[in-house]
Amino acid sequence: MNRAEELTRNLAAVKARVARACARADRDPEAVRLVAISKFHPASDILALVQAGQRDFGESYVQEALVKQDELVGQDILWHFVGGLQTKKAKAVAGRFVLVHSLDSEKLAVELARRAADAGLLQSVLIEVNLGEEQKAGVDEAELTELAETVLELRDGATGLDLRGLMCLPPMFDAPEEARPFFAHLRELRDGLSAQLGVPLPELSMGMTGDFEAAIEEGATIVRVGTSIFGERPPKA
Ligand SMILES: *Cc1c(COP(=O)(O)O)cnc(C)c1O
Repeated sequence: MNRAEELTRNLAAVKARVARACARADRDPEAVRLVAISKFHPASDILALVQAGQRDFGESYVQEALVKQDELVGQDILWHFVGGLQTKKAKAVAGRFVLVHSLDSEKLAVELARRAADAGLLQSVLIEVNLGEEQKAGVDEAELTELAETVLELRDGATGLDLRGLMCLPPMFDAPEEARPFFAHLRELRDGLSAQLGVPLPELSMGMTGDFEAAIEEGATIVRVGTSIFGERPPKA
């Protein structure tokens, strides 16, 4: 089996697992978007998956992502940014990703909004929430409402930031059932925030290779799957 066949087979297997999780949770499979996390994998792998029908890809490192975007220019790809984002990289990111999953500070929000406004566009974002002490990324729960209010103020008509929902990266567990309470909690946070601020926050980005089925059962609208599609990641070059 060549690499393209292997990727196509892996993608089909993950999609089937997504569909089964949706069936268990009585959810429409169309309501869950599968983002293939392609960090450290070459553009040729992404191209093979595009040819197998995959459209959403996620990257974690700005420089690596921009190189691949250039290599794959003209392909029908929706790029997501899922990694930690430094404020000084906001300019490079604004407008080049359909969704930034990892907004986690006011400083970053202000800068990303400024860069989006300069480019005359609306940048969709998720706020990444820190759900456990071991996690470094994400805003603390206690500061979530304040950051969400700031982000909402950073929309100016059709430019600035468009807050779409929340993202989390719970602690790694051996068993997906251990991650489930974190997913349920993110959903509760989203529901509460949406009610409190009076805005729809439709997206919940949660679930990776080890636990995406539990995340779907708890309401994920976006799952971020790398290893199950691409295989083990090579070491970072
Ligand atoms: C790498 C990464 C993923 C994919 O992880 P897998 O376990 O390989 O599926 C998902 N989300 C984020 C934020 C990542 O950095």
